[in-house]
Amino acid sequence: MRNNSGGVIQRADIGQLLSVLTEKGYITIGPTLRDNTIVYDEIESVQDLPIGWTDIQAPGSYRLIKRDDEALFAYNTAPQSWKRYLNPPRIRLWKAQRTEGGGFTVDPEDYAPSKYAFIGVRACELKAILIQDKVFLGGYKDPCYQSRREGAFIVAVNCTQANETCFCASMNSGPKAESDYDLALTEIIDEQRHEFVVECGSERGEEILKELQHRPVEAEDSQRVDERIQETISQMGRSMDTHRLQSLLASQPNHPRWEEVAERCLSCANCTMACPTCFCSTVEDVTDLTGDHAERWRQWDSCFTMDFTYISGGHVRSSVMSRYRQWMTHKLSTWHDQFGVSGCVGCGRCITWCPVGIDITEEVAAFQNSHSQKTTNSVEK
Ligand code: SF4
Ligand code: SF4
Repeated sequence: MRNNSGGVIQRADIGQLLSVLTEKGYITIGPTLRDNTIVYDEIESVQDLPIGWTDIQAPGSYRLIKRDDEALFAYNTAPQSWKRYLNPPRIRLWKAQRTEGGGFTVDPEDYAPSKYAFIGVRACELKAILIQDKVFLGGYKDPCYQSRREGAFIVAVNCTQANETCFCASMNSGPKAESDYDLALTEIIDEQRHEFVVECGSERGEEILKELQHRPVEAEDSQRVDERIQETISQMGRSMDTHRLQSLLASQPNHPRWEEVAERCLSCANCTMACPTCFCSTVEDVTDLTGDHAERWRQWDSCFTMDFTYISGGHVRSSVMSRYRQWMTHKLSTWHDQFGVSGCVGCGRCITWCPVGIDITEEVAAFQNSHSQKTTNSVEK
């Protein structure tokens, strides 16, 4: 990890960050208010940020409320994640055209390099991007993802509050961004100040900071950042014990808990759409009415849909139980086998956006409790 340089930017000067990035050709994407939620979209100025708004989340519940200050980043996770920009929900892969001689040409999609600046990436989201890097760039390099990821400038924002569904601290993925960003901001608001402590994580970040009005970081600033991070950790509503979880879940395909959770699960796929690491997709071929033109599109899919499990004339996971088991076992167990890391960063989105409030931390605890109960019983015998 590089030895971070940095500075402190006053609230009144933070708009310069967006201006400088725009001048350098970046498309700035950040949090903004829409449809009573905070979503990631193109932003042009600080006025587009959710000034003075925060969110309250719980299992199956999300609402925005006004704060009594003018904080810019005092919300928790947004319903969407950055995968929307790095791995868009629907992309064309190629198009084909019939030619006069009766043959046809096929043109693969040319993904021009994008120059996104992501503003407000949370530590857990940054970890999720690194996980998706393993999926899309680890072996075969997905050209669409690569074209968007390689030029991306990341402005992380450390969390200074957590909500009931957050558990990133127990997943070792937050609330402070530790590396792999260009700039990391911590928003400090108290009676005397509203400012941002900035850490540079790359040369590009240092170059941008040089162009912004700022003062040096003092020991007191770093102390305030540490205090905010500790407060955030103490506010986390949940935790997940990952000790031996990989082998525990892999060894329990017939545990009755899978049936119990399946009785509640609607198999709606919300959890996988909201999850920043889920990456399942399907392809669809479309033709026009003349039959002279065809296209292949890739779009997000989910292991919760029946069609996703259709192979060779049948569905391999026809019950909700088998689909929930597949999702959770993959996320927390076989993901390690595939990518060497957990597929969960503890962002809590699958809990908040599950319409029936199924909670992955509660499900894990149920398996762990039943395992420790069995161990105790066998020792007693
Ligand atoms: S499984 Fe749930 S908590 Fe974990 S990363 Fe996905 S949405 Fe977030
Ligand atoms: S766990 Fe919840 S969000 Fe996921 S498929 Fe089941 S009902 Fe939908």
